[in-house]
Amino acid sequence: MNTEFILKAAQAVNAAILTHEAEIESLDREIGDGDHFINIKRGSAVVIGLQDELAGLTPDVVLQRIGMKLLSTIGGASGPLIASFFIAMAKSVKEHGGETLTEIAVAFTAGVDAIKSRGKADIGEKTMLDVLIPVAGKFTALAGQGADFASLLQALKQEASLGMQSTKVMIASKGRAAQLGERVIGHIDPGAKSSQVMITAVCDLALSLKQVRSLI
Ligand code: ADP
Ligand code: MG
Repeated sequence: MNTEFILKAAQAVNAAILTHEAEIESLDREIGDGDHFINIKRGSAVVIGLQDELAGLTPDVVLQRIGMKLLSTIGGASGPLIASFFIAMAKSVKEHGGETLTEIAVAFTAGVDAIKSRGKADIGEKTMLDVLIPVAGKFTALAGQGADFASLLQALKQEASLGMQSTKVMIASKGRAAQLGERVIGHIDPGAKSSQVMITAVCDLALSLKQVRSLI
């Protein structure tokens, strides 16, 4: 995962979030307070604003700077959680590398674990973690099996989609939606939707590169 890829991924995520504005916004209006789209849009815009400053830095430093910037810019429950993802990923890349698919899977999992511990949440609570935990598990398993690049990325997209859909039937036990009890059944969690949109955008970008060499 080189710096050029991270910066391209930021552009792809920003574009994908804007494309899904109406959907993400209405989900948080239904079972939250309606600001989730604004929060993530602000976050991705500040990352885009950092591009010139980040170009030429090593990937771990880039991820760390993105995390710190997000921590000070995005509000809501999701802000510090997403920031902690990048900060933990930065630490993992610095300590264990971020070049092979296995190393990237380790870094992604470290990021997801940071969200779990910061938010004191786990799978099945109707949050972004219902997308992130299964994707991290699939990523680790397939990288470990030496799966080819394209089928790994397709599988991650599918896992993200299944995880996002899985939140529809859940009752929330974390975040604002937890106060609404059974009223949230039938609604997809907004953070799960935005996570699925972001993961899909990064996977599609990586797929467009055709070969793992362009990514690392
Ligand atoms: P807020 O809930 O403060 O308005 P956002 O609307 O930006 O913040 O984010 C809401 C999303 O954050 C939820 O849809 C859910 O996915 C996620 N979320 C909330 N609390 C937690 C938590 N403890 N752990 C993981 N994700 C959480
Ligand atoms: Mg909200």
